[in-house]
Formats: sequence, structure tokens, C-alpha cells
Amino acid sequence: MPHTISKDFEFCYGHRVWSQVLNGEYSDNLLCACRHLHGHEAKVTVSLTADQLVDGMVTDFRHLEWLKRFLNTHVDHQFIIDANDPLFARLVGDVNLSPVQIPGRDEIAGYTVDLEGVNVSGAEREMLEGFFVVDFVPTSENLSAWLARVVSIKMRDLGVAVSNVVWWESPKSRSQYDVL
Ligand code: ZN
Repeated sequence: MPHTISKDFEFCYGHRVWSQVLNGEYSDNLLCACRHLHGHEAKVTVSLTADQLVDGMVTDFRHLEWLKRFLNTHVDHQFIIDANDPLFARLVGDVNLSPVQIPGRDEIAGYTVDLEGVNVSGAEREMLEGFFVVDFVPTSENLSAWLARVVSIKMRDLGVAVSNVVWWESPKSRSQYDVL
């Protein structure tokens, strides 16, 4: 598969890496700042490939418009939180979750808080609307693998495969997940 196309997407998100442990021999201090609630101005680069070109293309770049909408809806200005985070009950509370399907597919991408019939104040509702719940620690490594799965499942009907996803946590720090 000699042809690869790539497209960048930019958004902001919050997260907490509750599993962070530092080794003082390599880190300047043992402050596990990634355990704090914090956010990033992120970029992801999604690379696609196909066995053969169709109309001279791996696929039309516009066939990733669904991904821009998906990221804008579920990740941009959302707080990505692990359902296994020991602070989940304190931060999110005892709530029901609604599955978020990969657009047009049965597979689940994550969860939002189900606010149907929930009696909370307007401000609390706004906070709860801001959570995107996953079942893994939201490191950039895990997030790149998560997004690769989402895009792979959506694009497979076009005969298009993900070769890799790069998740830029900052302009100088990124993780790459290679599918192929
Ligand atoms: Zn971070």
C-alpha cells in the first residue's frame, strides 16, 4: 500500500492521568502534575491508506468530515475521564451513562452522562455535559489508539485503512499509534 494520505484536526480537551508515577532518577521532581485536572490544545494527524486508488485517491479528504464533527461534538472542550478513575464518583457522581456510538456504526466510542430526568442545577448540568467517559486512562498513547479504532471502524466500508494516528498533546509532545 504505497499511498498514504493524512489530515490534521485541532481541538482542546481536558483530562487527568490518574495512573501517573514518576521516577526521580529521570524526572526533575516527583510532582505528578498529570494527575491534576488539566487541559491541552491538541492536534491529531490521521493517516489513511488503501489497497488501490479510487478515482486517483486513497479516499476523498472530505470523507473525513464526519471525524471533524465527531471530534467537535465529543472531544473539543470536553473533559475525557476514565470510568475507572478513583475520583470518578467524586468528579462525575453516581450517574447513568449513555453510550456514544461511532457514527453510523454499532460499536461504542465512549459515554456521556445521561441527563434525562436528572434533577440538577443549570451549572451542574453544564459541568456534567462536559464529560466524555472512556474505559482507559486517557494518556496520549491510549487516546491515539482509541481514535485509530474509531476511524478504522468507520472507514472500513470504504476499503480504507488507518495506517497510524498521531496525538499531539502539545507542540513538542506526541504519541503515535501504528495500526499497519
Ligand atoms: Zn495532559
